[in-house]
Amino acid sequence: MLQVRHLSKTFGTHSVLKDIDFTVCAGDVISVIGASGSGKSTLLRCINLLESPTGGQILFHGSDILEHGNNVPNYRSKVGMVFQSFNLFHNMSVLRNCEIGQEKVLKRKKDLARENALKYLRKVGMAPYINAYPHQLSGGQKQRVAIARALAMEPEVLLFDEPTSALDPEMVGEVLEVMRTLARDGMTMIVVTHEMAFARDVSNHVIFMADGVICEQRDPQRLFQAPKNKRTQEFLLRFL
Ligand code: ADP
Ligand code: MG
Repeated sequence: MLQVRHLSKTFGTHSVLKDIDFTVCAGDVISVIGASGSGKSTLLRCINLLESPTGGQILFHGSDILEHGNNVPNYRSKVGMVFQSFNLFHNMSVLRNCEIGQEKVLKRKKDLARENALKYLRKVGMAPYINAYPHQLSGGQKQRVAIARALAMEPEVLLFDEPTSALDPEMVGEVLEVMRTLARDGMTMIVVTHEMAFARDVSNHVIFMADGVICEQRDPQRLFQAPKNKRTQEFLLRFL
């Protein structure tokens, strides 16, 4: 579905991503782990074009979306994003948060947008809160709405940037549970996370980054049990 090839990103003289290569197949759940500042968020932001990469290719079903003439709005609508800080629209109800993108970006009729919004709010267990406003919700509830909002756009791949890092500990579980359900249902996901149990148990591929490079990427069983790279070993020791 998605092939990232030799991707690089520099800010001024600071090289933040260097020669990033990986492949995403339909149904993959890829965890991206690594210390703060290693470039994980920048990688996600390059994939959904919130940042423009400095070099390399991003092939979506074989065509390079960084090339001129490719349909960027279409691509963007197929790549959903869930942020650490939720980024809900504060002046809109839960239901409206999940309808608006469908109407404005996908030009869906109001009825269909509502039906879809309800479907995904039900999926994340937030249907009882459709008329609530974000400030009335807990962090875990806000993040579940943000996930429903992203799902309502029916993306082909969903990117998560530390979706549980801003949550109180008692709310982490409910969000991870929703993400596990999505994974089980076959959603293609790239998840930046510090939740090592999630990376180990839910993903089928793990990418370890340090200083803008991928040091190691493998299936979770081998990456966690027998990391080859010295920096991966040092990083994982901190979680034991
Ligand atoms: P991570 O998500 O792994 O913590 P980031 O991708 O946020 O890492 O950041 C990687 C590096 O890129 C950091 O050194 C950060 O300061 C730098 N960086 C990120 N965004 C910008 C920006 N817009 N301008 C300049 N430097 C940036
Ligand atoms: Mg980050």
